[in-house]
Amino acid sequence: HRDMFGLLNEPELLDSLDQKDYASKRGRYYLFWNCMKISGRPMLIALMAGNAAYQTEDSDTNSLIKEVTNRLARTFAPMKVPAPAEVIVTRWKRDPFARGTYSYMGPKARPGDYDTMALPLGNLHFAGEATCGTHPATVHGAYLSGLRAASEIVEQMIGPIHVPTPLVPVTPKAETVPNTPTSSIGNKNRSESTARLPSRENRQTQNEDYEASIIGAILSEIGERPIKPGRSGVNPFLLYQKDHWFLCKAQCDAARKEQLGSGGLKPSKEQVRIALGQMWHNADSETKRPYLEQSNRARELADVLRAEYEKNVAVWDGEAARIRREYTAQHPLLPGEGEVFAGKTAIEHGHGRRHRNISSYAEDSDAE
Ligand SMILES: Cc1cc2nc3c(=O)[nH]c(=O)nc-3n(C[C@H](O)[C@H](O)[C@H](O)COP(=O)(O)OP(=O)(O)OC[C@H]3O[C@@H](n4cnc5c(N)ncnc54)[C@H](O)[C@@H]3O)c2cc1C
Repeated sequence: HRDMFGLLNEPELLDSLDQKDYASKRGRYYLFWNCMKISGRPMLIALMAGNAAYQTEDSDTNSLIKEVTNRLARTFAPMKVPAPAEVIVTRWKRDPFARGTYSYMGPKARPGDYDTMALPLGNLHFAGEATCGTHPATVHGAYLSGLRAASEIVEQMIGPIHVPTPLVPVTPKAETVPNTPTSSIGNKNRSESTARLPSRENRQTQNEDYEASIIGAILSEIGERPIKPGRSGVNPFLLYQKDHWFLCKAQCDAARKEQLGSGGLKPSKEQVRIALGQMWHNADSETKRPYLEQSNRARELADVLRAEYEKNVAVWDGEAARIRREYTAQHPLLPGEGEVFAGKTAIEHGHGRRHRNISSYAEDSDAE
């Protein structure tokens, strides 16, 4: 299915819109994650939601393995799906330290419920995904709630925190380093003088401030480094595939029906793809022409964009180096304040800024 929207699982009766027809399957292995890339092992995670999750708490592991293996066998038929080598079933509700997975909005939930969960009781503050009304049930919601709770506690202890604007001062402070040994500093001045000592941390902070000032000077004069254009390859076959997928699938369907009768299984995506490859291979040059032309046009446009980018980035790099030189000459670091960084920072390398790929999936990611 190519649906991008649905109800966790299909209903018992095909295409039924009656809620009760969804009840028995809803939430059962509704999503599989392929964890091969992150774990390096052939590993799948299957998720259960709603009533299915409650039922899992009381189901024995063997019946769950059987059910999930059957499910995968149906999905990948006619390929054979072997029994898993190892299985871990989580039962979060039974876990005395968890008692469940994460919060959800019950049928009687009210709009302010998450905010109510976030209210402190005297000195006791609450964090966790269930206290974050804007991003509940997520890791980022839990993280944000931690920041919120921490700021509430700090504010309760020391009052509102003043955030300076701009956060990073444009000109670094040229502080002199006193030669006086620490032991001879009187108690009254100790904290002030200690703050000025060129300790390792102080030096690092000074260096970071100094770098930030240089970056600030560069960005305010010439703006951000140009963004590298995305990969250019547009594969003509993928363009053809996009236009002919449904036609080819219908043909494969019809061929299978003729061969196996109406009870036959639908062709898999891979089978349709193979048939499409054959169609493309056999297509005459007139059929292929628009796709080859479109591919060539995309490649030409990408070449133009690439050349433009290379020109602009060379100008930007030259200007950034000039501003860095001028800045360090105008604001030299005093002895003991650390060293001027000789290379380029991540921003000057354009790191972290990627061209957002907005073209269709027909782009060939292997082609450069
Ligand atoms: C299967 C699954 C998939 C998920 N997928 C995603 C996802 O793709 N993206 C996403 O953003 N989020 C996902 N989440 C949700 C996300 O994991 C949670 O929202 C998030 O971890 C909640 O963090 P938390 O700090 O609020 O609570 P938790 O991570 O639950 O931490 C609470 C901690 O408190 C401990 N604890 C409980 N009671 C006590 C006690 N009495 N004494 C001491 N310790 C106690 C618990 O053991 C636990 O370690 C998923 C969750 C699950 C279960």
